[in-house]
Amino acid sequence: MGMGRSGSAVSRLLNRHGINVIGVDDAPADRLKTPVEELISQGVMIHAPIDISFPLDDADLLIVSPGVSLDHWLVRKAQSKGIKVIGELETASYFFSGKIIAVTGTNGKSTTTALTGHILKTAGVACSAAGNIGLPFSEVADERFEAAVIEVSSYQLETIDTFHPHVAVWLNLTPDHLGRHGSMTNYASMKARIFSNQNAQDWLVYNASDKITAEYCSRAVSRLLPFDISGASGAVLRDKIITIMSGSGESEEILPADEMLIKGRHNIENALAASAAGWAYGISAKSIAEGLKTFKGLEHRQEFVREYHGVRFCNDSKATNVASGITALQSIDAPIILIAGGRGKGDSFADASDLISKKVRLIIAIGETAEQIENELSSITIVKRASDMKEAVNTALANAVSGDNVLLSPMCASFDMYDDFEHRGRVFKELVNDL
Ligand code: ADP
Repeated sequence: MGMGRSGSAVSRLLNRHGINVIGVDDAPADRLKTPVEELISQGVMIHAPIDISFPLDDADLLIVSPGVSLDHWLVRKAQSKGIKVIGELETASYFFSGKIIAVTGTNGKSTTTALTGHILKTAGVACSAAGNIGLPFSEVADERFEAAVIEVSSYQLETIDTFHPHVAVWLNLTPDHLGRHGSMTNYASMKARIFSNQNAQDWLVYNASDKITAEYCSRAVSRLLPFDISGASGAVLRDKIITIMSGSGESEEILPADEMLIKGRHNIENALAASAAGWAYGISAKSIAEGLKTFKGLEHRQEFVREYHGVRFCNDSKATNVASGITALQSIDAPIILIAGGRGKGDSFADASDLISKKVRLIIAIGETAEQIENELSSITIVKRASDMKEAVNTALANAVSGDNVLLSPMCASFDMYDDFEHRGRVFKELVNDL
């Protein structure tokens, strides 16, 4: 159910292993984002749009995409008939014979997943970085990798059953996706499923400075490996050097943090988590250091675009919640002109008001939350509205002076105006490069 990227990938995976697949979706076949012609030619049946008369009786298994709510009538119907319901992540894991490192958290997942994958590859491990990062796990699960580093979202964890990472990484927890999960407690419980199938031989890497994360992880039976910039055990920063302090009191220095190409306190946290995951997997300190030193960072995450007449433009389109926007505001120098807004997720922009009042001299509000931004923030800085990204970039330029930083850090999802955050980031970068 749900023929997007991961639904199509899991259909192909099952189909190439001789399993009969019927792909269904609420949208009509010609409006699906992922073309299904190839799947049909390979023998996958497609029912789109699906309607209430769809017969489920012959199905052995219902696989739901992360975007489909478990309240969907088809899911309810399957459950009432005793048909097992799982997600793409769980299904893909049945086909994978290597070790899994799984990364979750509210922010920093893609960066940490890519960095951990890079560390393993640099150390010579045949490894794939997959999952939410853009390459569904189903795409690579039946290939012969020694390891897979998988970015997993709370939606994917909602539909696991036996999914069992050898190393689980939980980065942090701040409000996000509350529209779907209902409350922080539900959201945290979904994240906690990342270690629910672990045993005492497995590792759980977690952020000891994040209260909720640390509290949930203290209940795990796994071997615990905390990370904390100012901590005393696990992966820590000691004299500005990324260091692993093992339980027995021994320490292994990895790399001075300022030798990394990725910058900012949040990226030091991501590097501590990735170093801990690599160390738990068995990578040497020297190889971890080599990986950290050569990792270039990901597109759309505080990505420098261009300097134009002394004004620097930064694309942080991946900031899809207020907490990640706060991270960008911490890392980017004032004075800032901030372009923000999009589809809200139920969190409040007022959480960023301290930083905004100190560093942001103008906000350009776009998308569905423009009015909310104006209501919540116009008492602390100037807020102007723009109807699209072109107008936002032009307004930013018209108001900027040399030395300003123009930051696209929307703090919202992109789906009100764009296909996804990548699309939004590309549109911004093209407009900036065309100035
Ligand atoms: P995710 O995959 O969880 O969305 P990304 O690695 O793609 O995370 O980073 C998205 C944005 O979140 C970044 O541009 C940055 O502003 C912020 N961010 C990254 N790492 C962290 C972190 N460890 N803590 C808080 N914010 C972070």
